[in-house]
Amino acid sequence: MADSHTGQCLCGAVTFRAQGLRDIWFCHCRQCRKVTGNFLAACRTEKDRVDSDGELQWSPHSGTSELGRCAACGSPMLWRQPNSSTVSVIAGSLDDTHGLAPRGHIFTAEKGEYYTISDGLPQWAAHPKGGC
Ligand SMILES: [Zn+2]
Ligand SMILES: [Zn+2]
Repeated sequence: MADSHTGQCLCGAVTFRAQGLRDIWFCHCRQCRKVTGNFLAACRTEKDRVDSDGELQWSPHSGTSELGRCAACGSPMLWRQPNSSTVSVIAGSLDDTHGLAPRGHIFTAEKGEYYTISDGLPQWAAHPKGGC
């Protein structure tokens, strides 16, 4: 199914299925850089369109948002905010990204000075108006 994606953590204890994923965004904010070690690539869908198996551990991310990791190996896979109907799936945890196109870079004002963004995609210093 073109609309359906599967993913898992590094150790395989957590697997998930996501329907209706939208485009991939790169987030260069301080929090995403800390938890990923570089920057985050993620794509959104509705919370009720992601099903997971295995033990997820939710830790505080930015503001009220939380990052869902495998309780065994720590791989980050999901990001959510309590007041939003959507959840973000971390692109690196997907088995494949068919049909998902990269759209742009956000929070570039906080990006690392050791790399350059040169893929020609739009960039926003903070969060783009209208959401990502
Ligand atoms: Zn794992
Ligand atoms: Zn971020």
